[in-house]
Amino acid sequence: MNGHTPALMEIYGRLDAMHAPRGWHWWPDADPFEVCVGSILVQNTSWTNVEGALALLRDAGALNPPAMAALPPARLEELVRPSGQYRQKARKLGAFLALVESHGSLEALLALPAAELRERLLATWGIGPETADAMVVYAACQPAFVVDAYTQRIFSRLAIGPTHTADYHEWQHFFVAALEPDRDLWARYHALIVMHAKHLCRKQRPRCGECLLAGRCPGRDPEGSTP
Ligand code: SF4
Repeated sequence: MNGHTPALMEIYGRLDAMHAPRGWHWWPDADPFEVCVGSILVQNTSWTNVEGALALLRDAGALNPPAMAALPPARLEELVRPSGQYRQKARKLGAFLALVESHGSLEALLALPAAELRERLLATWGIGPETADAMVVYAACQPAFVVDAYTQRIFSRLAIGPTHTADYHEWQHFFVAALEPDRDLWARYHALIVMHAKHLCRKQRPRCGECLLAGRCPGRDPEGSTP
């Protein structure tokens, strides 16, 4: 905990007040394999496109490690096509499935201590820090604070955090150092950030007039009071 703790918890409370009733695909819980697959497929695309690919994988009975690993590469590419960059993403899924296989099962992989799991994920082709942390916190249910472009957008507008940089680790350290090491808090905080960025703190024309953070937000858009 440090001097930023009260501000971050106040923001959390207000985000919760605004967005708690909304559903989010990985909160409060989700199938661990779907989380892992989704966190790879969502790279460089929207969740809506990922949903299309997940639906095809589900219909094909491929949303479990052995079934997906048994698919011919061309078939996997076809199924993940709605998420874009489908050849590359099919290869990334293949690399992740090899990691799973090398540990015997997904359960065994996800049961590794968070730091070790993160290290092995990051050593896997196609998995970067954001993807690895999403798997740790939402699939393995262990503490990891996910940072993404939404996090940096919102907190830069609020003028809180290492706003001079886009470095993933600097931003992550800022939150981890200030918040209790509580998996549920970290998981829910990121979920609320995503919901806020999608519904109110949008890239263009943020809906500041509906935002409970407007009173403390230097980046508030004076014209952004209407939907
Ligand atoms: S006041 Fe506007 S810019 Fe600031 S956090 Fe809220 S929606 Fe985003």
